[in-house]
Amino acid sequence: ATPTALMVGTGRGAKMGILIKNGEVLEAVNDVKTVVFDKTGTITVGKPEVTDVIGDAKQIIAVAAGLEESSEHPLATAILMYAKAQAIAATPVQDFQAIEGKGVQAQVNGQKAFVGNDKLLADVQISAELKTQMQTLQNEAKTVVFVGLNNQVIGLIAIQDAPKATSKAAIAALHVRGLKTVMLTGDNQRVAESIANQVGIDEVIADVLPADKADHIKHLQHSGAVAFVGDGINDAPALTTANVGIAMGSGTDIAIDAGGIVLIKNDLRDVDTALALSKKTFNRIK
Ligand code: ADP
Ligand code: MG
Repeated sequence: ATPTALMVGTGRGAKMGILIKNGEVLEAVNDVKTVVFDKTGTITVGKPEVTDVIGDAKQIIAVAAGLEESSEHPLATAILMYAKAQAIAATPVQDFQAIEGKGVQAQVNGQKAFVGNDKLLADVQISAELKTQMQTLQNEAKTVVFVGLNNQVIGLIAIQDAPKATSKAAIAALHVRGLKTVMLTGDNQRVAESIANQVGIDEVIADVLPADKADHIKHLQHSGAVAFVGDGINDAPALTTANVGIAMGSGTDIAIDAGGIVLIKNDLRDVDTALALSKKTFNRIK
């Protein structure tokens, strides 16, 4: 009867767009105490849009678009779409380099240019006024990137990625189950907290470099089994380190491969459905 129950369970899941890869996943689900979420594309829609440009917008967007043309990051897509909408031509760049979790840099007319967060600034100074403007935007749940040229910050770009309509309900359902929820993100603390408050997430771990995400999962495992929900290339180590890796179906192939459970419909409420189904199936097999 054991393999039959497993087949019935995974078959029912498949019909609902929930792929459960094996029986071990079912067993692990039973012990989960904490559910950890990636932010971009998991809690949020994953289609960020430029909302504010502080400084000489034409110059800032031209330089930023030139740099972001070679990047595949969702923030890059937002900046390129904005440049196109404003009919601002991208400044040509040389020696492009992407720096994981920080931003991008290149040469523009022999000068070093960059777009990214404060981890990329090193010894470049920003004015008190710019810092205040940055914090105000971050408190509005907007991700702020600096645009730099010739060792100077020439301005800020604010980019907004709204929570999915179902994220709040999805988190609430997990709390009803007595689970703790955590957001783990490379984005800034203020932005992450603002989004976490909107959807009701318990705890925020922000400013995390992609390489460090798996270590944070290991730390959270001190208080019991952890499920991680993510969609990006960066998320693969966290997905495999977690006791249960849940990949969003809209995500990268790498994330989908790394997940023990795949949510095809890309609806965050399916995390709760997947947990319920796994528990039910597991109790039938054991
Ligand atoms: P997440 O946890 O949301 O996937 P990432 O690790 O991909 O975050 O990125 C973290 C931060 O690094 C971004 O919020 C941004 O500040 C900066 N960053 C990364 N890539 C880029 C890029 N191409 N352009 C500008 N900023 C970037
Ligand atoms: Mg990401």
